[in-house]
Amino acid sequence: MAVVTERFIDAFEFVRLGKSASGRVPLARFVRLLSGQPEQPAGAAAEWWARADRGPLGQPLIRLHVRAEPVLRCERCLEPFTLPIDSEVALQLVETEDELDADQAEPAAEDDPAADFEKVLGSRKFDLHEQVEDELILCVPYVPKHDVCPAGSGQEAGQAPGKPSPFAVLARLKDRAGEGE
Ligand SMILES: [Zn+2]
Repeated sequence: MAVVTERFIDAFEFVRLGKSASGRVPLARFVRLLSGQPEQPAGAAAEWWARADRGPLGQPLIRLHVRAEPVLRCERCLEPFTLPIDSEVALQLVETEDELDADQAEPAAEDDPAADFEKVLGSRKFDLHEQVEDELILCVPYVPKHDVCPAGSGQEAGQAPGKPSPFAVLARLKDRAGEGE
């Protein structure tokens, strides 16, 4: 089985030839993922593996496995923490935008074997890094936070006196909004 490591692939050709690919991407490249997040450790990278497959109805699939440990800001104590991500997604290649839209208009039935596939627009210059970033973004919780915040961390301990950080203010607003849950 041929292995390629480039970022762009001809997606349908990749599946037709039963190829696989893998690579590493510096985390700092993922600007959508890391918008508003702390600086990443030097050398931090996402690893990914992609392999061609077919669904039960012959659908062209790319099974993508991603692994990364981005450093995120805890929204409870505002300290950085590492979120280990190890995730797999089955990308179903479709040929037109209409097929993507059709999926949203008509949710698949639960017993539909295609329901587990994430439809993406296949192309001759299919950006694997973009798919890796999308999957990482999906793995980050809506409100990233420590399971248990370390004692003594947070706005009481870390902020300059007399000048609350905008993040701390935001966090307090969120806490207030979350009361009574
Ligand atoms: Zn925390």
